[in-house]
Amino acid sequence: APRLITPEKRGEDTDVSLRPQTLDDFVGQAAARANLKIFIEAAKNRGEALDHVLFVGPPGLGKTTLAQIMARELGVNFRSTSGPVIAKAGDLAALLTNLEDRDVLFIDEIHRLNPAVEEILYPAMEDFHLDLIIGEGPAARSVKIDLARFTLVAATTRVGLLTNPLRDRFGIPTRLEFYTVEELEQIVSRGARLLGLPMSKDGAVEVARRARGTPRIAGRLLRRVRDFATVAGAEIVDRKVADAALTRLEVDSLGLDSLDRRYLGMIARNFGGGPVGIETIAAGLSEPRDAIEDIIEPYLIQQGFIQRTPRGRVLTRTAWEHLGLNAPENITA
Ligand code: ADP
Repeated sequence: APRLITPEKRGEDTDVSLRPQTLDDFVGQAAARANLKIFIEAAKNRGEALDHVLFVGPPGLGKTTLAQIMARELGVNFRSTSGPVIAKAGDLAALLTNLEDRDVLFIDEIHRLNPAVEEILYPAMEDFHLDLIIGEGPAARSVKIDLARFTLVAATTRVGLLTNPLRDRFGIPTRLEFYTVEELEQIVSRGARLLGLPMSKDGAVEVARRARGTPRIAGRLLRRVRDFATVAGAEIVDRKVADAALTRLEVDSLGLDSLDRRYLGMIARNFGGGPVGIETIAAGLSEPRDAIEDIIEPYLIQQGFIQRTPRGRVLTRTAWEHLGLNAPENITA
């Protein structure tokens, strides 16, 4: 079965009905929102392009949504692509030369940009021109093409994988945080309203508590709970209905799913709680290392289930308790 709580994009997420359309509609990320509001206001007043923005944070926290909102609030076009999709320098050149003044170009997963493509991005970001080499060998010459003054909005789950020169070219680096239960409750309640699903506050809280701090997961759980309520003939989704649905989906009381529990259980049972290296964990779970570092671990770290140490991952007492196992006597985490 596909993992229900993966924050990666899936088809249903392209159903845009739940996506907030304005900064005021966007719940949470108060600090980031307040900053963006000021920068957008200032850029509009001056009639200039907004400085380049880098969003950093785990998948599903609203990076793409914020980029779209920014374009809308600036009143400019929104163009979107992603690092791995831009294979050649020419692909990026084609995108850039089609931009109009002050447009927003969104590049998701910018840490996966190929280095040859990254090279041509530098002068584009800094001085709004392209340096292209035309022809080969002794006949090769370089041409300079002027670009519209655009705003690059980039997103990454792994800022550590960005080269320094690229990172330094973003005037507005912005880190997104996991959402609180209260914020997710607002998002779930709003979603239920938009879906026409009667839901009590405690029902929304139950979904929120189990959404791993992530709006994308909250939206996905909400849709599954709705299916469950429809089939069960429930008139209103209250705490009990939500709990029954989520338990059925193997999402536990803290939002951990079976893969999270496999991760924690393996470190506990096979490695005495660690420390254990990421490669060993990846091999043991048969999951790619990237997925473990991008998707599974950030939430487990934020919730205090694991610690990252120079020698590897270590389970905390909280994790042992959540698994219902006895922690070793000499535990330090
Ligand atoms: P990212 O680009 O960080 O992976 P997205 O912007 O694609 O995340 O958001 C994932 C999903 O979560 C979208 O369907 C979006 O509608 C929803 N979402 C994200 N942030 C919020 C928010 N603050 N309020 C309501 N819905 C949100």
